[in-house]
Amino acid sequence: MFETVIAGSLPKPSWLSETQKLWPQWKAEGEELAQAKVDATLLWIKAQEDAGLDIIGDGEQSRQHFVHGFLEQVEGIDFEHKVTMGIRNNRYDAQVPQVVSALKLKGRVHEVEAGILRAHTKKKIKFTLPGPMTIVDTVADKFYGDKVKMAMAFADLLNQEARALQAQGVDIIQFDEPAFNVYMQDAADWGVAAVERAAAGLTCTTAVHICYGYGIKANDDWKKTLGDEWNQYELVLPVLAKSSINQVSLESYHSHVPAHLMALLAGKDVMVGVIDVASDEIETPEQIADTIGRALQFVPKNKLFPCTNCGLAPMSRAVAIKKLEALAQGAALARMRFA
Ligand code: ZN
Repeated sequence: MFETVIAGSLPKPSWLSETQKLWPQWKAEGEELAQAKVDATLLWIKAQEDAGLDIIGDGEQSRQHFVHGFLEQVEGIDFEHKVTMGIRNNRYDAQVPQVVSALKLKGRVHEVEAGILRAHTKKKIKFTLPGPMTIVDTVADKFYGDKVKMAMAFADLLNQEARALQAQGVDIIQFDEPAFNVYMQDAADWGVAAVERAAAGLTCTTAVHICYGYGIKANDDWKKTLGDEWNQYELVLPVLAKSSINQVSLESYHSHVPAHLMALLAGKDVMVGVIDVASDEIETPEQIADTIGRALQFVPKNKLFPCTNCGLAPMSRAVAIKKLEALAQGAALARMRFA
């Protein structure tokens, strides 16, 4: 009951890259960088186990950014000529690569880190990939001329990598779709279908993570404009409930998302965000157990997975470690309280 897991990303050590940035520059290159990525992945597997988490991830130590890390292994994308583009409905500008020809994987994307993860923990492992709609919103299109067509092309590449990850022993494959909270109607109309295409044929557990973004200023400012009740999930959750996806990861702690929206996910596992990634304040076990208690009104005990609201990448390492420990302690308290 209440198996704990993180949304996905963790801070990169200062010897691997710049810290507390969404697009940090690597500190090494070539063989040295490859080894540093391995070392950082091992470090975070150990830290998650030491904290007492039940499901372990790679902490996304091998990708500069959760979307562009995948795109770097895709043929048909020009990283040499990046352009500035407003992303997430112009919430902030990003330097994005351009799609210039038909898309094809150059080879495996995450083989090394998935292999390390599987070899170094006996616990269940989760691996994250960017979702098709969020990819489309984080790259400039000079080739397809149609968002849905391009999203489906990316979905096929994601599916190829996801099948290979499953074959390596990954238990849960999660697609990250923060864009679902920005383009709500599109998410319902074709975003979920694109994720299902990315997950087609998988027999492992499949998941979608939908959040209000990392704890960066542009997101904090945006959240202030959303009012007292955040109903962005309302359109997409019923579509996800009818989909083939098994789990949904939601932001809930310190947000204005009404807990009753979780009832729209009847039948699905819900990864409930009990850790705020936009604040350095460490949640107490009581606060976490209270959040779990509120979610239990709408999610059955055996379907509730305490999780972080989003990734922890832009935070400090020290704070992230304390938040992992709090997550495990809060879930332990909730097990006693609600058993
Ligand atoms: Zn997120």
